[in-house]
Amino acid sequence: MFRRILIANRGEIALRIIRAARELGVQTVCVYSEADRDGPWLEYADQTVCIGPGPAAESYLRFDRIISAAEIANVDAIHPGYGFLAENAHFAEVCRDCRIEFIGPSPEAMALLGDKIACRKLARAARTPISPGSSGAVEDEDEAVKVAARVGYPVIVKAAAGGGGRGMRVARDEETLRAVIAAASREAQAAFGSGEVFIEKFLENARHVEIQVLGDKHGNAVHLYDRDCTSQRRHQKLIEEAPAPGISPRKRDAAARSAAELIKRAEYAGAATVEFLVDENQRFHMLEVNTRVQVEHPVTEMVTGVDIVTEMLHIAAGEQMRFSQEDISVTGHSIECRINAEDPQNGFLPQPGLVEQFRLPGGPGVRVDTHLEAGYRIPSNYDSLIAKLITHGRSREEAIARMRGALREFQILPIKTTIPLHQRMMDTPRFLEADYDIHYIERLLDETPLET
Ligand code: ADP
Repeated sequence: MFRRILIANRGEIALRIIRAARELGVQTVCVYSEADRDGPWLEYADQTVCIGPGPAAESYLRFDRIISAAEIANVDAIHPGYGFLAENAHFAEVCRDCRIEFIGPSPEAMALLGDKIACRKLARAARTPISPGSSGAVEDEDEAVKVAARVGYPVIVKAAAGGGGRGMRVARDEETLRAVIAAASREAQAAFGSGEVFIEKFLENARHVEIQVLGDKHGNAVHLYDRDCTSQRRHQKLIEEAPAPGISPRKRDAAARSAAELIKRAEYAGAATVEFLVDENQRFHMLEVNTRVQVEHPVTEMVTGVDIVTEMLHIAAGEQMRFSQEDISVTGHSIECRINAEDPQNGFLPQPGLVEQFRLPGGPGVRVDTHLEAGYRIPSNYDSLIAKLITHGRSREEAIARMRGALREFQILPIKTTIPLHQRMMDTPRFLEADYDIHYIERLLDETPLET
């Protein structure tokens, strides 16, 4: 195992990694920006290093500053968390060149899975289901129209190098497709440095289901079953749960096995998530692979009992996978609500500011992953996620009942947060019956905004 690691992240995930490392007797060095000088999580680290001003481009995204800190602190490895440099293959390569272990996949595996076209090709070989579409990049309008005629409208045009829900265009007829294809390519070139685009069938009324997988450096791969992340707003997940409600065990197992096979073929070492859209007939269609730990990993931990972050450390240190597929089973049900410092009554406007009063919820089956405490000032520079409230119960109903209670207890005053939205969802019949799709929350908020 490593002696000392550097954490190239902030907030709740930095604290999550510190805790995992501490459990394994690994020392932690946390880097921080000037805007995070008073970050409560820094007190939990063995050592801290300031790496620059508040804007991420001048601190958390600066390879040179992070690598310098790593060398001065003499660490063996860097954990990137999620966001920032977590899916930057070039950064993973720089770490390797500097003989610092990157706690995540090799730059080659990351680049392969990060390219949506290459990933679709690999998925075909692994028999991971994908939505019908072009086999590679589409070169021009006519080719796009041919593909769309084959798979049927509506179609979605996507950038091979895309991410964060950007660079996608839906076309419901040939005229629109001809109009968007060149623009999509130009946009992709500007945003991601590659103009390559491809086409797939656009699925109406889909649910988002993903499979958590782990691979090691010895060619082993296992899956930790599924999560549902259908509750989204503008492609941002709000509520996640495990297992995904209403999916037949046979379809779930088939998708999960194919996801493990996919990362095995990519020679992937670390934690990854294979994301799928599931249509009304419970058919799975792979969207992409995320090559990092996800925000929503705790729901999988709650139902499988596997600590995903400690496993990432074991894997990066070169150990064999510590369990086989047969050792993994799912117990009960878990739900996570993302608590963001955003005002759901006012367009989800970010709400930085001083936390004056802070009260944590508790009781059986309640977990909170957060870096907040009273007296902490939430800076305006970063993502608005301030806490993850996770409950576990024997059934989905019990997990929801516990979530209701925990949401009532949780106080983060006077900051406006997404708590009222979650409270409403926990009483919304369509949510309770798990009868909704990825656009449901947006429609609900359009029709009946939250009361002020
Ligand atoms: P990104 O890498 O930008 O997150 P994804 O491929 O993961 O892109 O897609 C992001 C979101 O876009 C999905 O969660 C879904 O809401 C929507 N989407 C993507 N592909 C399709 C599709 N074929 N049909 C319907 N919606 C889609």
